[in-house]
Amino acid sequence: MSFETLGLCKELLKAIKEQGYETPTPIQRQAIPVILDKKDILAGAQTGTGKTAGFTLPMLELLSRAKHAKGHHIKALILTPTRELAAQVGESVELYGKHLPFKSTVIFGGVKIGPQISKLKGGVDIVVATPGRLLDHLMQKTIDLSHVSFLILDEADRMLDMGFINDIKKVLAVLPKQRQNLLFSATYSQEIKQLSDRLLNAPTLIEVARANTSSEIVEQSVYLVDCERKRELLTHLINEGKWKQVLVFTRTKHGANRLSAQLEKDGITSAAIHGNKSQNARTKALDDFKQGLVRVLVATDIAARGIDIDQLPHVVNFELPNVSEDYVHRIGRTGRAGNQGEAISLVCIDEHEYLANIEKLIKKDIQKIALKGFKPDPSIKAEAINMGGNRGARNKPRGTGAKAPANKPRSGQSRNAGRPQK
Ligand code: AMP
Repeated sequence: MSFETLGLCKELLKAIKEQGYETPTPIQRQAIPVILDKKDILAGAQTGTGKTAGFTLPMLELLSRAKHAKGHHIKALILTPTRELAAQVGESVELYGKHLPFKSTVIFGGVKIGPQISKLKGGVDIVVATPGRLLDHLMQKTIDLSHVSFLILDEADRMLDMGFINDIKKVLAVLPKQRQNLLFSATYSQEIKQLSDRLLNAPTLIEVARANTSSEIVEQSVYLVDCERKRELLTHLINEGKWKQVLVFTRTKHGANRLSAQLEKDGITSAAIHGNKSQNARTKALDDFKQGLVRVLVATDIAARGIDIDQLPHVVNFELPNVSEDYVHRIGRTGRAGNQGEAISLVCIDEHEYLANIEKLIKKDIQKIALKGFKPDPSIKAEAINMGGNRGARNKPRGTGAKAPANKPRSGQSRNAGRPQK
């Protein structure tokens, strides 16, 4: 099947061609005709499947087919959980719509509201927004959503995880009843079901990315290592493999900062990206990484969500996520659009249960490697993992701690001794 047979106008086909896309991805093949048929959809698709074009292209097509009143007013609203994703979806809208007359803008928090207000005043057709800042605009009456006929919730599961449900409900309340709704979610929880029941009208179900799709494309391995020696092993792997671009996941924001600083000390250029950083700092870190100015980008799950980097060759789980689905999202950052990718997880004894749950989810045993010189000390017993809250004696995962005396016997030592508290 080609894009030409999907019924898209020549302006869109031209933009697609300029992107170098030859054939639609499975989600695009399935979603585009249904959306063009003006049906609501509930789509299970993860990043990396081409889902953004899967909803952006038919949205633009329908907008261009409709007879609109003169002037620009907001006809389509796309909600995303994070600023990064909003920015990326916004870029896709601009990119695919560059030969069409629509104006679009992106609205998210963490930056000044003034320029957003000016942009809205100038008139736009398509808005990509995160729920919080969108509500600010609604409350200040700086946005008019009374002409929206197209609503897209992207990564709806993540929006719910991030506690946006009430904000979403408030936005829904001001939208015209007559509209087409598209809901994209990587997972189907009870909450997603409730949201889709409330939001969607006889939706067509589209499912392309099962939980193990990325896990089939991406080459995965687990390095068994002591928590305190993870950083040392990571440095070793980066240097030995001469990796030029690696995305590393940590469980906490502090862990991300700490690891990034430690890698720099090891002579490996690195930047951290997480929710505590200003939008400008996040954008700069991502740009530097994309341009190859820094080799390692250390990220938390939420910050990394939606980061769009073509042909990212290496993803490292410095710490395994406690939610198994996050593992699939993380490794889905590599091996995108059919490229070869490698995902490595550094797993210490504390994380074996997480690993077992992940293997259960992806229905696959991941190969385990105990690298010479980094083999785990069998005398070390598992400890519960603190997820980075402020309470508790050990509020940072062991892996990002100071380098342990690798060659010294550990018996009799308190496991937390010498570890700086937050
Ligand atoms: P997404 O899942 O929307 O984040 O897209 C993942 C990546 O696939 C992006 O880098 C897109 O530019 C790319 N992509 C989207 N559609 C196609 C296509 N039909 N052919 C090749 N690449 C695509």
